[in-house]
Amino acid sequence: MPTAPKWINDTLEKLAPSMLRMVRVEHVTYLNPNIKIIRLKGNFSALHFTPGFTVSFRVSPTEMRHYTVFYVEPSARFIECIVHIHGNAPGANYINELQPGGEKIKLAVLGSDKQYDAKVKKQIIFGDETSLSLMLSFLPLLRQNGHDYQFFIELDEQNRNIPEQIGLDNCTVFSKNNIFRDQDQIRQLPLFNDGGWSDANIVLTGNVRSLQNFRKVLKENSHRGKIYAKGYWLEGKKGL
Ligand SMILES: Cc1cc2nc3c(=O)[nH]c(=O)nc-3n(C[C@H](O)[C@H](O)[C@H](O)COP(=O)(O)OP(=O)(O)OC[C@H]3O[C@@H](n4cnc5c(N)ncnc54)[C@H](O)[C@@H]3O)c2cc1C
Repeated sequence: MPTAPKWINDTLEKLAPSMLRMVRVEHVTYLNPNIKIIRLKGNFSALHFTPGFTVSFRVSPTEMRHYTVFYVEPSARFIECIVHIHGNAPGANYINELQPGGEKIKLAVLGSDKQYDAKVKKQIIFGDETSLSLMLSFLPLLRQNGHDYQFFIELDEQNRNIPEQIGLDNCTVFSKNNIFRDQDQIRQLPLFNDGGWSDANIVLTGNVRSLQNFRKVLKENSHRGKIYAKGYWLEGKKGL
């Protein structure tokens, strides 16, 4: 629930204490002015981290915002997320202000849906800046388990080199508001002429309109692999 009256958020925190962790910002790294890595120190033992593990910050008394964990330290003393500071909005402002040495903050640890299937050889993950953390959370498993994989990423011009900076490989970078806004252009992607990927599992994230268009074309092409879709944001909509 991204927006709710303060009393509801207060009550939920009281009802579900096992889903809350008190954390401190231990370290931040700006990869550029609008992409930030945040390291949160706390006790994350007893949690089962799988790719796509979601956490939620209470960015104001009435607003919650979701972010994805990409790294868990082996003894579960800290986690890391990559966040997109997209503009002037409660989540982006809150995230931008997080700095080491601040007060302890409450973090809701929400868990993950099953997005990764070790048994499926080919995997494609689609998204944008908001999906970089998710992609990085998949990467070690994709490599260790010998998958064939591709990342399709829509990015603003100033973020084009971020995938390389964070160590993502097998990436195809697309301009924002371009191909994935137009189903005809999606149909022209090499993916649809190369039957080799027609049984891949596909995880669609990021902008809702882009992923809906992509999914429609995949369905039209009778894509044989599993399609998991989770919108991360939608123009004009607060939180998701
Ligand atoms: C399961 C899940 C996992 C997520 N993981 C991550 C993550 O790891 N890293 C991350 O950065 N984000 C992630 N997001 C997306 C993030 O929660 C949203 O971008 C959120 O809307 C940001 O809140 P806000 O208060 O800044 O903007 P809002 O108040 O929600 O929105 C204000 C305006 O900004 C627009 N907007 C929101 N996000 C963006 C954006 N990224 N680019 C351009 N315009 C935008 C909205 O459409 C709206 O018009 C995730 C979302 C979900 C649902």
